[in-house]
Amino acid sequence: MTPAEKNELETFMNGLEKRNPYEPEFRQAVYEVASSIMPWYLQREDYRKAQILERITEPDRIIIFRVTWETDAGEIRANRAWRVQFNNSLGPYKGGLRFHPNVTQSVLKFLGFEQIFKNSLTGLPMGGAKGGSNFNPKGKSDREVMRFCYSMMRELHRHIGEDTDVPAGDIGVGGREISYLFGQYMRLENRWSGVLTGKGQSFGGSAVRKEATGWGCVYFCDDMLKHHDIDISGKRAAVSGSGNVALYAAQKLINKGAKVVTLSDSGGFIHAPEGLDLEQWEEIRQLKEEQRGRLSSYESKGVTYHDGERPWGVDCEIAMPCATQNELEAAGAKELVKNGVIAIAEGANMPTNLDAIEIFRENHILHAPGKASNAGGVAVSGLEQSQNAMRISWDDEEVDLRLRNIMKDIHTRCVEEGQATNANVDYINGSNIAGFKKVAEAMLAYGAV
Ligand code: NDP
Repeated sequence: MTPAEKNELETFMNGLEKRNPYEPEFRQAVYEVASSIMPWYLQREDYRKAQILERITEPDRIIIFRVTWETDAGEIRANRAWRVQFNNSLGPYKGGLRFHPNVTQSVLKFLGFEQIFKNSLTGLPMGGAKGGSNFNPKGKSDREVMRFCYSMMRELHRHIGEDTDVPAGDIGVGGREISYLFGQYMRLENRWSGVLTGKGQSFGGSAVRKEATGWGCVYFCDDMLKHHDIDISGKRAAVSGSGNVALYAAQKLINKGAKVVTLSDSGGFIHAPEGLDLEQWEEIRQLKEEQRGRLSSYESKGVTYHDGERPWGVDCEIAMPCATQNELEAAGAKELVKNGVIAIAEGANMPTNLDAIEIFRENHILHAPGKASNAGGVAVSGLEQSQNAMRISWDDEEVDLRLRNIMKDIHTRCVEEGQATNANVDYINGSNIAGFKKVAEAMLAYGAV
C-alpha cells in the first residue's frame, strides 16, 4: 500500500472507531476488508462519490430485544437477543443465529458484515445478516432450550419472512433449535413458509445442509491446493472444533485421503498423529451430536487428549480452524509455519487474527478466508430456499453437485481477483474484492439516496 492509500485507510478506520467505540470484533472485520480493497477502491471514483464503503459498513438496522424464559425449576431468566440486518442489496437478508454466552452486538455485527460478502460470492440472491443471543444452551434441558426458542421467536417473527430475512443456525443453534424456532413461527403466523433454513429434511430442509459447510471447506481447500499443483491426499490436517463444521470437514478430509490429526472443543484437543479413521470419526460424531459429550471423555487407540490446549502445535500440512473467531493467533501461526504448514482453510468465521494473517502472508502460506471457504453452508441454505419456493426437494447427489460447483466458482472468482505478485494467489484480497464488487454495483444501481 502506498502512503496515500495508508492514510485514506487510517482516516476511514478512525471514523469507524468513533462511530463504534466498543466493538473490537466488528472493527477487526472491517479493517480486514478495507485494508484489502483500499488500493482498488480508491481508483473507483464512482464508488467513492456514492460513499459505498461508508454505507456498506453501517447496518440497515439492528433489532435488540429481551427474551424471558423459565427454567425447569420454575425460575425466570432474561437474555438479550439481536438481529443485525446488514445489507439486502443482493436479496433477502440471510445469516445464522448464534447462541453463546460471549455473543455481543460487536460479534454479531462482524458476522453480519462478513456475511454480506460471503453471500455475494456464492452467486445466489442473498443479502447479509446475523443474529443470536447471549443464551448458553450448554447444560440446559431440551425443554429449557425449547422455551427459550419459543420466547425468542415471539419477537423475532415480526422481523423475518421468506422474502425479508431468512435466519439459519450457527454456534449453539443446530437442528433442534431450528425446529423449535420454526414450529413457533408457524404457530404465530399460521402458515408454512421457508422462513428458516437448516430445517429437518422431512419438513422442508435440504439434503446435505448439515454437511455443507465442512464439505464445502474441503472442496475449496482441494481446489486451492490443485491450483498450486499440490495433492490433498496423504496430507495431515489439524482441524479445530468438533461441532457442525469441524465434524463434516473431517469426514470429507478422510474421504479424500487426507489424515485428520486433531479435533478440539473449548476444553482441549485430541491428537491422532496417524490420522483418525472413519470408525473413530463416527464414534466422535455420536459423542458430540447425539450425546452432547466432551472430547475429554473420548478414548481410542493412537489418540491422546491435551487438556486446555489448542491444536496448532502439531505437525501438519493443512490447518482448518473450524471453531470460533480469533482462535488462531500469532503464536499458533508461528508454530504452524515452523512445523511445515502449507495451507490454511478457514471453516469458522474470522478464526485467524490480523497478526496471524500477516505471518501467513509473509511466509507465502496459502490462506483461504472463511468468507470464501465456509460459504458452502449458506450456499446450501440458499438452495433450501429455492426448493421451498418451488415446493420440491433435490436428492443428496443433486445438492452435492450444486455445492461442488458453487465452491469451484468461488475459487475461480478469488483467483481472478487475487492473483498476487508472488507465486501464490492472495485469496484474502481476491475474496474481498470479488464479494465487495457485486454488492457495490447493486448499491450504485439503486441510486445514492
Ligand atoms: P457448533 O456450535 O456446532 O460447534 C462449535 C465448535 O467450536 C464446538 O466444538 C465448540 O466447543 C467450539 N468452540 C466454540 N466456541 C469456542 C471457544 N470460544 N473456544 C474454543 N472452542 C470453541 O458451531 P458450528 O460448527 O456451526 O460453527 C463453527 C464456526 O463456523 C463458527 O465460527 C461459525 O460462525 C462458522 N460457520 C458455521 C456455519 C454452519 O453452517 N454451521 C456456516 C459458516 C460458518 P464446545 O462444544 O466446547 O463449545
